[in-house]
Amino acid sequence: MIKAVIFDWAGTTVDYGCMAPVKGFIDAFKSIGFQITEEMAREPMGIAKLDHTRAIAAMLPEPITERQILEAYRVFEETILADIKQYCDVLPHVVDAVASLRQQGIGIGSDTGYTSVMMDEVLPAAAKQGYFPDFCIAPDKVPAGRPYPYMIWQNLVHFGLIDPRQAIKVGDTVADITEGRNANCWTVGVIFGSSELGLTKDQVAVLTADELLQRTAAVRAAYYQAGADYIINDLSELDGVIAAVNVLLDQNAPRKLLTPGPLTTKASVKHAMLTDHCTWDDDYKAITRSVMDDITKISANDDYATVLLQGSGSYAVEAMINCLVPAEDKILFLVNGEYGKRMLSIAQASNRNFEAMSFDMTEPVDVSAVEKKLESCDDIGAVLFVHCETTTGVLNPLAELVKLAKEHDKTVMVDAMSSFAAYEIDVPGLDIDALAASSNKCLEGLPGLSFVIAKKAVLEASEGNSPSHSLDLFDQYQGLYAGGGKFRFTSPTNVLLALRHAIDEYAKEGGLPARKARYIKNHEVLVDGLEALGIHSIVAPEHQSYIISTFELGDLDFARLYSTLKAKGFVIYPGKLTSQPTFRLGNIGDVYPDDMTRLVSVFAKVVRR
Ligand SMILES: *Cc1c(COP(=O)(O)O)cnc(C)c1O
Repeated sequence: MIKAVIFDWAGTTVDYGCMAPVKGFIDAFKSIGFQITEEMAREPMGIAKLDHTRAIAAMLPEPITERQILEAYRVFEETILADIKQYCDVLPHVVDAVASLRQQGIGIGSDTGYTSVMMDEVLPAAAKQGYFPDFCIAPDKVPAGRPYPYMIWQNLVHFGLIDPRQAIKVGDTVADITEGRNANCWTVGVIFGSSELGLTKDQVAVLTADELLQRTAAVRAAYYQAGADYIINDLSELDGVIAAVNVLLDQNAPRKLLTPGPLTTKASVKHAMLTDHCTWDDDYKAITRSVMDDITKISANDDYATVLLQGSGSYAVEAMINCLVPAEDKILFLVNGEYGKRMLSIAQASNRNFEAMSFDMTEPVDVSAVEKKLESCDDIGAVLFVHCETTTGVLNPLAELVKLAKEHDKTVMVDAMSSFAAYEIDVPGLDIDALAASSNKCLEGLPGLSFVIAKKAVLEASEGNSPSHSLDLFDQYQGLYAGGGKFRFTSPTNVLLALRHAIDEYAKEGGLPARKARYIKNHEVLVDGLEALGIHSIVAPEHQSYIISTFELGDLDFARLYSTLKAKGFVIYPGKLTSQPTFRLGNIGDVYPDDMTRLVSVFAKVVRR
């Protein structure tokens, strides 16, 4: 929730139109022989007044000396101090808006471009009219005024805040907005009474509707370009802004997603998205290549290449099936969950020649049944299956299945979406032909990018296979490798930057062994904790992955369980089994054994109730 609002003074809470400084600067520069315009006087408005004096000096047709600047500033100060009491009218709606904030327990902070000596005149004059903030600071009390965020920091200190997103900066100049953004708090630009509008109340009153529209649109455009979060006409709209920000703060409250994926990601991974890049830029292409190389190294070697593909994991699975298994090859799918079924749907939609062996969803694929099948059918060209079936958390016997298929000389491709980077998969050693995974599972990146790791020989032989233009892995491979790292079509640049950072985080944690150890511990704390509460996993421990687990719902009501956990900061998955009511908990992502302990304690309360 918002805890403090930090108001600017002239033009925001007092002095409609921000007139005092304008008159002060015109007089000041006249005293050293320069006639400046009102626009020149206003342009730097909001910054500390000595800085403001220098900024105007820089606009003069000829350079002036430091002595002249200081002289102009001296005259400015003199003029302001003589006149200021006439310019302390509190703006409409200020007193009511502040009363409403106080009622909501929100602190009233303030900062300014005026010096402390000037504020000594303004503060009592405003107080007489009913406006008195809890805190006020002038730029001479910090190392630098706007656009530096130091005055806002002092406000945060005063109100004892940790998170600047609990504060809103309200102002009437671009400098106010920039200061607020530099402090990373919310920013609000006010149109009427502002220096940016630059009109007195009487001047506003005589404008035609068209003129008014034009003038206010220009102010809006300036605030918008400066990056204001909200733009309001006057402070009567401030309560609405507070309510809207509180909704956002609530919606965006930190929570742990136990729903892979998307899953919980580190703030630094999301932060990595803040730069904009072009698909064809050389720096960006180098980043793209480094991502593909690093992914290849996790489970494969130089005989393999990683081909990134825009889209979620299913896009990579579809591209892998349709581009890398030649159309004439019959595919045998081994299915024991929804993701296996999804491969069937892809094959069906693409009119592929295929067969499926289906197994109980709570059991791994039966190797001996597959062996019999391969011995009895010699028309099968490729065997495809899911490594960790995220539907239940069952782990399929990858090495045994691959060895078996290879003994029968089959092509083998694996959907290793939820196991890649957390399970050792010896892709070259097992001679796996291709493997599909995505950014938003155990690499802990963001959704939007998937990839196929495939033998270069398989990729090079795949020209012309793809029935789809957009999902053509051969074409994509050409662009990304021969083309030096260029995506064929618009690449999700920000998501790729996040993936680059996620891979750095992976290395920092200690790579696969460390990530695996953390997931195993998460899984143990979770399963043991729930078991102690009488909540049982439906998969036998020897077949259970340490990625995601499915539990019997029992007497619990899923909707209630979901909302109770969400209120405590945890988001869970419904079950996907038709045979019995279940729910699922993933333990991958930026989650730790401590989180699992907290989760178990919330469950304990729910169960006891
Ligand atoms: C996540 C996942 C996918 C991809 O699903 P999308 O919804 O396309 O992201 C595919 N297979 C498995 C096993 C998965 O866990």
